[in-house]
Amino acid sequence: MQCRNCGSAHIKKNGRSLKGTQRLYCFECKRTFTLELDARRLTKSACAKAVVLRQEGESLRSIASILGYGKTAVWTALKNVPSDSFSGSYTS
Ligand SMILES: [Zn+2]
Repeated sequence: MQCRNCGSAHIKKNGRSLKGTQRLYCFECKRTFTLELDARRLTKSACAKAVVLRQEGESLRSIASILGYGKTAVWTALKNVPSDSFSGSYTS
């Protein structure tokens, strides 16, 4: 794990945010930050589920919350799926 701000590996866990996200503290820049859900990439099986959910008409937001990933991560995964059965644009 690395600091999101300065890239230092000199960090420690610093409790959790209200949303349950892991909070981290950086000794180098002395800032706290959270590990963003969007930093995680979908596993192959999560990606397959996302495609199915999308085809069933679920929104990005609900797919992300069902799978436990960030919207951007879901969107990135769906974009990389070679499928013309799905079309749309990224709206937040
Ligand atoms: Zn830092």
